[in-house]
Amino acid sequence: MKLSEPRHPAPSDADARRAVPVRVCYPIDTVPHVDLSAARTARASATKVAEVLVPPRNARCIDVPVGHFLRISSVDGPQVGDLNLWKTDNIAERFFSGKTRALYGTHVSTGDQLFSNLPYLRSLATITDDSLDWYGYDPDGGSVHDVIGTRCDPYTGRLLSGGDYHHCCHSNLSRAVADHFGLPLDQAELQVHDVLNVFMLTGFTRDTQQYFMKASPVRPGDYLEMQAGTNITAGLSACPGGDCGDEHSSDVAACHPLLMEVFAPAAPHLADFQESQPSPYDRTHGR
Ligand SMILES: [Zn+2]
Repeated sequence: MKLSEPRHPAPSDADARRAVPVRVCYPIDTVPHVDLSAARTARASATKVAEVLVPPRNARCIDVPVGHFLRISSVDGPQVGDLNLWKTDNIAERFFSGKTRALYGTHVSTGDQLFSNLPYLRSLATITDDSLDWYGYDPDGGSVHDVIGTRCDPYTGRLLSGGDYHHCCHSNLSRAVADHFGLPLDQAELQVHDVLNVFMLTGFTRDTQQYFMKASPVRPGDYLEMQAGTNITAGLSACPGGDCGDEHSSDVAACHPLLMEVFAPAAPHLADFQESQPSPYDRTHGR
């Protein structure tokens, strides 16, 4: 956070330095185009092949084969979910919220691709439908489905309050990864990474640019849907913050389950689907 009273005086040309034009760091015009109409046609042909209900203050994993659709739905009441993604056969490749944010901005929606970490940088999934796309950005600068948060965790809980809470999203995902991949808990924990905050309403305060949350506008029946670019495993935690309108990292908030469903397109659509590939960069780094 910037000092409210800087220790150093502004130079005489401070205004001119501030007035230079803004440039978008990563224009996305050249990112490989997503064919949403093909995705919608494939989705219309799809049938459900798997589902898992994520209990409140807990997490579950589900495998989503290449070309299949993952739908995350609100069921009993307003609830936020912390989503992790891994490539199923190589979980060292995982969702890269930072670069996804650098490309698409603070919040994602239909047409945005969810990229994996370096040295892969492949589209693990593309968001193909979002029932909350009407929300846009509100007067506070807030929106849904952010890639600016991390996940609630017991370490930050210790830092801020000194107490231990074992059902933060980080812990929930650690247990789910351990169970799904058959890993010891301490190794599973290392696979948990910064999330896509599904349904969460967040932004940065105008004055101090601090991360804020508001009660999510999600209601039962709302959903976020994505098509897997390769074989992925999704881990989802039903955050102990519930709708994240007040408190998290505790048992205070009203919490609800979240539903994950996997849909398989009809065979011809699946056959036509082009699996996403890792970056072709040769990794020589100038050597
Ligand atoms: Zn959480």
